[in-house]
Amino acid sequence: MIYQTLDITQLTQKLIMVCKGICYKYKAKKPLMTSRYASGQKRCSNCELFVNWDGTNCPCCGIILRTNPRGTQDRQRLLLVKQQR
Ligand SMILES: [Zn+2]
Ligand SMILES: [Zn+2]
Repeated sequence: MIYQTLDITQLTQKLIMVCKGICYKYKAKKPLMTSRYASGQKRCSNCELFVNWDGTNCPCCGIILRTNPRGTQDRQRLLLVKQQR
């Protein structure tokens, strides 16, 4: 009965959205004074790294890249940095 949840579309999606190692070419260094999102870096939740990439999709695995901090924690950190400067 466990196998019922693993349908063919889920399986093919997992096969397509796999990290090919290309993302490491575009890997973004951590900015010193600003947040990664503020400096234009995008996060791939599949490859689990930040990339310097103009497109909306990951150059490596093809999933849509995250461009905004998702939690309030990140936003608060952003505010703190601005206040310190
Ligand atoms: Zn990747
Ligand atoms: Zn990726």
